[in-house]
Amino acid sequence: MTATDQEKTGLGNYFIANYPPFSFWKADHLPAARAALEAPPRAGVPLGLYLHIPFCRKRCKFCYFRVYTDKNANDISVYLDAILKEVELLARSGCVGGRALDYVYFGGGTPSYLSASQLDSLMTRLRQIMPWDAAREVTFECEPGTLQKHKLETLRAHGISRLSLGVENFKPEILQYNGRAHLEEEIYRAFGWARELGFPQINLDLIAGMVGEDWDNWKRCVAKTIELAPDCVTIYQMELPYNTVFSKELKVIGADEPALVVADWPTKRAWVKYAFDELVKAGYDISSATTVVKNKATTKFVYREALWRGADMFGTGVASFGHVGGVHIQNVDTWEAYVEKLQKGELPLGRAFPTTQRDRLVREVVLLLKTGHLDVSYFRDKYGVDVRDTFRAAFDKLTAEGWLTVGETSIDCTDDGLIQIDRHLPAFFDPQYISTRYT
Ligand code: SF4
Repeated sequence: MTATDQEKTGLGNYFIANYPPFSFWKADHLPAARAALEAPPRAGVPLGLYLHIPFCRKRCKFCYFRVYTDKNANDISVYLDAILKEVELLARSGCVGGRALDYVYFGGGTPSYLSASQLDSLMTRLRQIMPWDAAREVTFECEPGTLQKHKLETLRAHGISRLSLGVENFKPEILQYNGRAHLEEEIYRAFGWARELGFPQINLDLIAGMVGEDWDNWKRCVAKTIELAPDCVTIYQMELPYNTVFSKELKVIGADEPALVVADWPTKRAWVKYAFDELVKAGYDISSATTVVKNKATTKFVYREALWRGADMFGTGVASFGHVGGVHIQNVDTWEAYVEKLQKGELPLGRAFPTTQRDRLVREVVLLLKTGHLDVSYFRDKYGVDVRDTFRAAFDKLTAEGWLTVGETSIDCTDDGLIQIDRHLPAFFDPQYISTRYT
């Protein structure tokens, strides 16, 4: 592959979300998952809860998540009963060990697809099983077009502290072509209600490089974002994973010269850099390769921080990912299997991966590099190693290429290095995990 080819947006995942790669997680490892769920918790490890709400109004053409667009009210009620049953079973497992929830995350899919009354009864019941009143953060993902004011009032009443709005772009034609269900005016309406109701933190998601994007429109998107002044802005770079509508269209056309116009990686990085520069001028701080926040001291993203530092998290819902006692766990990935197992009173475990101490060290180095900063003493205290020595070859290579600097107390990405950090992270993988397919 030539350097030019590498910079095209080809098929497959580009971003690193976990380690070891998902392709190494196996059903054979489920006994380790069951043992971890019953073992007492390790001292000082926080516990979180992720709930996957897999419904969407329509499927975005770039989406590879497990989502359903054809379920009726009865199906939804069956699913919500199943997820409640799952939380009930997990709440009774030994690994809870009296811990209160530290963070909760409603993701999807589109959690805001549920009606206010469905959300009210789901959250009332969930809070009886595993209260989150003491949690540091409760995040809820929303698609702007599914929000009404009374739905947001319900969320506020149940203690949602971080509202994440999937805006992605402001231009109607781009939203429509990429299969987004919401309209531009719905963004402003939803954001206004959320501010009026006083949610402590509002995040706005954008995607750099949606099909049809260009410089002029991207600049308008950034200006509109700054005008809205959310507490946090997350900017993803468009990838083309397998099993999306776009990837199938590419396959039909021929993967070599796709007719779809997807910006190459240098262009997408230039767009992110432009957005970061403008947001920094407007008073934001860069807090990771994908996020800027209004105030770094007060605007935390507990879910991400906890997860990246190896916290426990129950991943509930169809195909959800979790991590307990050092074991990665994923639920079964079909609706039928998920519902059937829970109706029989069984946990819907699908595959797992028991990590070694070395895996956990690599995982933290890789994920925390996405914040642009590694603290040498943090790793010395937690793992008893000097990461500068343990990963000397990788750090030397990335330093020589200008992506980071290695200092006395920390390792810090350069600005250019941070924006493209994901493509350099495999340099830290152990050889057995460098595979061609990540998922
Ligand atoms: S709204 Fe999100 S989860 Fe639903 S189809 Fe679009 S990208 Fe996927």
